[in-house]
Amino acid sequence: MKKRPNDKEPQRPRGMSTRLIHGRRAPIPRNHPTATPIYQTANFLFDDTEQLRQLHEGGEDLYLYTRLRNPTLDSAASRLAEAEGAEAALLASSGLGAISTTCLALLSKGDHLLSIGNLYGGTFRLFRDHLPRFGIEVDLFPVDSPDEAEKAIRENTRMLYLESPTNPTLAIADLKAYAAIARRHNLISVIDSTFASPVNQRPLQSGIDIVVHSATKYLGGHSDLVCGVVAGGGPNFGKIRRASAILGASADPHTAFLLERGLKTLVARVERQNRSALEIAHHLEGHPGVRRVYYPGLESHPQHALARSQMDGFGGMITFEVEGELEGATRVIDRLRWIGNGASLGGVESLAAAPVLTSQRGWPREELKKAGVTHGMIRLSVGLEETADLITDLDQALAAS
Ligand SMILES: *Cc1c(COP(=O)(O)O)cnc(C)c1O
Repeated sequence: MKKRPNDKEPQRPRGMSTRLIHGRRAPIPRNHPTATPIYQTANFLFDDTEQLRQLHEGGEDLYLYTRLRNPTLDSAASRLAEAEGAEAALLASSGLGAISTTCLALLSKGDHLLSIGNLYGGTFRLFRDHLPRFGIEVDLFPVDSPDEAEKAIRENTRMLYLESPTNPTLAIADLKAYAAIARRHNLISVIDSTFASPVNQRPLQSGIDIVVHSATKYLGGHSDLVCGVVAGGGPNFGKIRRASAILGASADPHTAFLLERGLKTLVARVERQNRSALEIAHHLEGHPGVRRVYYPGLESHPQHALARSQMDGFGGMITFEVEGELEGATRVIDRLRWIGNGASLGGVESLAAAPVLTSQRGWPREELKKAGVTHGMIRLSVGLEETADLITDLDQALAAS
């Protein structure tokens, strides 16, 4: 509360409205609450102008305005930096908010962005429909081909953009190989590590510069928030932080609270999802109704050795292909009982979706072919239900096909 140096016994204001707005409130506690409080406030007050000056001189424990910084956001972000082994992290209003902020902060007119082609649908549209409007050129290369990426580098190439594992075919980007290419050619390497979560993969340790996540997925983990993360360090991260304050895709305190709550159980959730998904993938691989299973933890996965070398677990996402094209896939999805029919992932509840109806909806056949996406594909996000129950559910749905 505002100090009144010349006023030992402050006068009580007369009006009720003034008292309700400025009346005494409980002091800020001296000891920490177990859970971080939700600083649900747009702005912060100063004791005096000197304190505002201190803030501008870098006072870390002083706050001005929530779009710029907020203690609840800082708290969740610092735990995420810890998880990624990053110098720092920041929260964004969504995964795409994190990705667009990163691109707009680091790329300028005339720059060239090199990206894997097997992108999350929203990121694909950002790169295809929006960045070119700002004079940023985008070229795509196959995720499993560092050689092709290196050949496509031009004089104006600034950024190398990756996802691993990819959606929905769960292909793996060789993190060390791409990080080396980026270093050789002085490019900023960025990876969307949503599918892996920091439990299964910490790309900064392989030399990648910036990691982004849709925190909506595993980090939050309960399908009840939309949020994004950028983690990294050095001058490039500084640029992203400064741009983020102006581009305005910042997260809100309540979301940050939910995210931090989710983070406390991240390891327990993801480890269980890893185990469950591996068991389900093995089961599906032996199922007569399944044509092919895409899961990096299976020895049949073409990049299994690479996945093993750079991941601590293979994640909770499985894609499999059934007979009968889209009709076959929808028949299976519609017969599932516990496994929900929904497009997101990474939550406690298992979800199944046909990529051609969700992430790759409306793509021309040629684009689908390039991305390796087929009409008979089902993408499964393995939740925290009993593995045996999930297998029973899949078996009964597949039996009918
Ligand atoms: C969901 C998702 C995004 C986008 O995140 P939002 O939080 O929905 O904006 C980006 N990348 C991947 C891999 C995703 O799964």
